[in-house]
Amino acid sequence: MARERLYLFDTTLRDGAQTNGVDFTLNDKLAITGLLDDLGIDYVEGGYPGANPTDTALFATSHKLDTTFTAFGMVRRPGRSASNDPGLAALLEAKADAICFVAKSWDYHVRVALETTLEENLASIRDSVRAAKNKGREVLLDCEHFFDGYKANPEFALACAKAAYEEGARWVVLCDTNGGALPHEVGAIVTEVCKVIPGDHVGIHAHNDTEQAVANSLAAVRAGARQIQGTLNGLGERCGNANLVSIIPTLKLKPEFANTFEIGVSDAKLKDLLHVSRTLDEMLNRAPNRHAPYVGESAFATKAGIHASAIMKEPKTYEHVAPETVGNRRRLLVSDQAGRSNVLAELDRIGLKVDRNDPRIATLLEVVKEREAIGYAYESASASFDLLARRTLGKVPSYFDVVQFDVNVEQRYNAIGERVTVSMAVVKVKVGAETLISAGEGSGPVHALDVALRKDLGKYQRYINGLELTDYRVRILDGGTEAVTRVLIESRDEQGERWMTVGVSPNIIDASFQALMDSIVYKLVKAGAPA
Ligand SMILES: [Zn+2]
Repeated sequence: MARERLYLFDTTLRDGAQTNGVDFTLNDKLAITGLLDDLGIDYVEGGYPGANPTDTALFATSHKLDTTFTAFGMVRRPGRSASNDPGLAALLEAKADAICFVAKSWDYHVRVALETTLEENLASIRDSVRAAKNKGREVLLDCEHFFDGYKANPEFALACAKAAYEEGARWVVLCDTNGGALPHEVGAIVTEVCKVIPGDHVGIHAHNDTEQAVANSLAAVRAGARQIQGTLNGLGERCGNANLVSIIPTLKLKPEFANTFEIGVSDAKLKDLLHVSRTLDEMLNRAPNRHAPYVGESAFATKAGIHASAIMKEPKTYEHVAPETVGNRRRLLVSDQAGRSNVLAELDRIGLKVDRNDPRIATLLEVVKEREAIGYAYESASASFDLLARRTLGKVPSYFDVVQFDVNVEQRYNAIGERVTVSMAVVKVKVGAETLISAGEGSGPVHALDVALRKDLGKYQRYINGLELTDYRVRILDGGTEAVTRVLIESRDEQGERWMTVGVSPNIIDASFQALMDSIVYKLVKAGAPA
């Protein structure tokens, strides 16, 4: 039987940008749009053109995307004509495939917040939808406070929705703006709306204030709605929006939905979900939620003894879906036995052949546990894990020794009187019998250290010429008595291969130095440099 199409609308860049502490740059927005487009999301709402310089710039040029790139904004203001409203004009000029208008649908808000009549509110919806249609745009209407509005005055709430639909809006989106609606209420109200407006023109926009935004979205679909709006990782003001990272696998993997509906995310792209979720966290420099459904580090981690042995025999016994389907993996944290099999699996993955009964595996397991307890993140920094494993198994040549380094930071005025901060680093390295001293200058101490360290490694220099640092991330961890700094460095070589290394220390320079050293040594190992 043909499955019905269900559409996904992402508002990470608009509603998600309302999150406390989240401030997307233009580049962030472009990168996230690319991720969502690649994942197969039908609509990406980029922002609110005219409301701030970033969003205005975002909509100033067109983007070649498969997704329907959508601009958000208000319907025309009461008492103005559509042609005489600067806000509406900016929206109509935006380089977007679709326009998502927001309008009041709660009579109380129309009277108190807008201070206008119910009829003028309806006229403003009709005029704005018509103006956008005339511009050739696909049109959506977000009915703000729809569920509260429907409870207070169902005729008026429905009239707002109908006004947009009859004027030609592709979607009428029912918003639980305050986030207080419960799934059975959403189900009942959406059922009523779908008697008036066909469900394949009805969307749901749920907020998470009772932690049921996902449940409310699914309840709306069950009641007939065919578009779900949400954000990556449930980003959004207050308690967030409906989390698409939880909704997508539920729609794809739970038979009730999977047998009935088709979405734009393929099975192959579903495996990228964890990557997409983590990329957003990394961009925002937020620690990923370990307990996030489907994609969290703990989502498929089992600790208790009996569960673990059952899982090893038959994973389905304790897992609701297969972790690989969303790009995650099983983690067994329990006994040394289970830890052993984890480490063995990792060694296998990086291609290190070792006897299963080798006592050094227990040593490696201990070292990993100890180091992760003080902040090392081998989960992310797999190149550092690779080196740690090789070292424990005695397989990393001692290529060079850093005998000494010195870094300084200087603030001064330059020739044209601007205040500048520059750093200088001097590194003394021993390569075989040779002692090499290099100096480097950089915009900061870590940069200077990196430049000096990679300037002259004697006979190894040719192996690291193509090495460059592509990302540098710092996180302060609460390490008990004192805060420690964790530095994650991403490197890339001339073949385009990328790897991540980690350093941890109370001192940021020392943590960075560890991560830099790991990156260089990893490259030498990878390149097969002779000892
Ligand atoms: Zn919202």
